[in-house]
Amino acid sequence: MEREKEVIRTIYYKDVANFFESIGSSGELARGEIRCSICGEIITPNNFRAVVRKSENLLFCCDKESCIHELVSHLRGDKA
Ligand SMILES: [Zn+2]
Repeated sequence: MEREKEVIRTIYYKDVANFFESIGSSGELARGEIRCSICGEIITPNNFRAVVRKSENLLFCCDKESCIHELVSHLRGDKA
């Protein structure tokens, strides 16, 4: 049972700006170019919930419970 291994990092609201800065995507965030990888909604500091690094990609997730669920089961199954 190592499903937590690919850690889903929940970023607290106050850290969102710093976080996006640290990955070099603060501009994209500001321009509304980052989308939830599940529902496609534009990610803002207000609805940002989690990020997962998967291979080379970062998957972002908004704060909808359904999206978090989807993200987790996607990671577990690892089959699109
Ligand atoms: Zn979503």
